[in-house]
Amino acid sequence: MTTIARNLQDVRARIATACQLAWRNVEEVTLLAVSKTFGAEAVRTAAAAGQRAFGENYVQEGIDKIAQLRDLALEWHCIGPLQSNKTRPVAEHFDWVHTVDRLKIAERLSAQRPEGLAPLNVCIQVNIDGGPTKSGVAPADALALARAVAALPRLKLRGIMTIPEPAPDFEAACAVHARARALFDQLNAEGLGLDTLSMGMSADLEAAVAAGSTMVRIGTAIFGVRARSA
Ligand SMILES: *Cc1c(COP(=O)(O)O)cnc(C)c1O
Repeated sequence: MTTIARNLQDVRARIATACQLAWRNVEEVTLLAVSKTFGAEAVRTAAAAGQRAFGENYVQEGIDKIAQLRDLALEWHCIGPLQSNKTRPVAEHFDWVHTVDRLKIAERLSAQRPEGLAPLNVCIQVNIDGGPTKSGVAPADALALARAVAALPRLKLRGIMTIPEPAPDFEAACAVHARARALFDQLNAEGLGLDTLSMGMSADLEAAVAAGSTMVRIGTAIFGVRARSA
């Protein structure tokens, strides 16, 4: 068995244990494998081990891998910060974008999504812990942005995404993730029909699942430590 296959097995076991402890069905949590900085062969190895959804931070790097792996039926998620001059290749090649944090980006993605493709799945990135330099809309502005994005014809609003600062311990991580879950529930109470709460990474997936994450984005625990920062 390859290292990547074994790591995937370990991560799936971590998710299953976290779901059990939270009285949640393991099918409620999707594993997104974050393959940034790793080559197409690493993705191919993970795909052979049953992994289907992959996350990329850099648009060109992601598009190169998508092109090299056309023979596999994979689902590609753009999870990196998105500049407005990069929206077209994202709209043309990816299945999901997790990092929409202003209406202008969403409008461009909708206008640029090719007619022949299904609507682009979108999460709104929320700056849940108020990090001053971080992307993401303020929690108080999330409802207005979500309503505007939901109205765009070529996008499908699926939920919200967060990247909180590393927390000192499990309880602190749970507390910040619980704020994201409360916002997610509040948006659904407003009728937005969201099914995706994208939160939790290698270090905090247990806390994220405990708090109600429906999609964890895992890089290091699957592919190993990245050689260059991302
Ligand atoms: C790199 C990255 C991840 C994965 O982080 P790991 O700690 O390697 O699991 C998840 N989400 C985003 C947005 C990332 O940039």
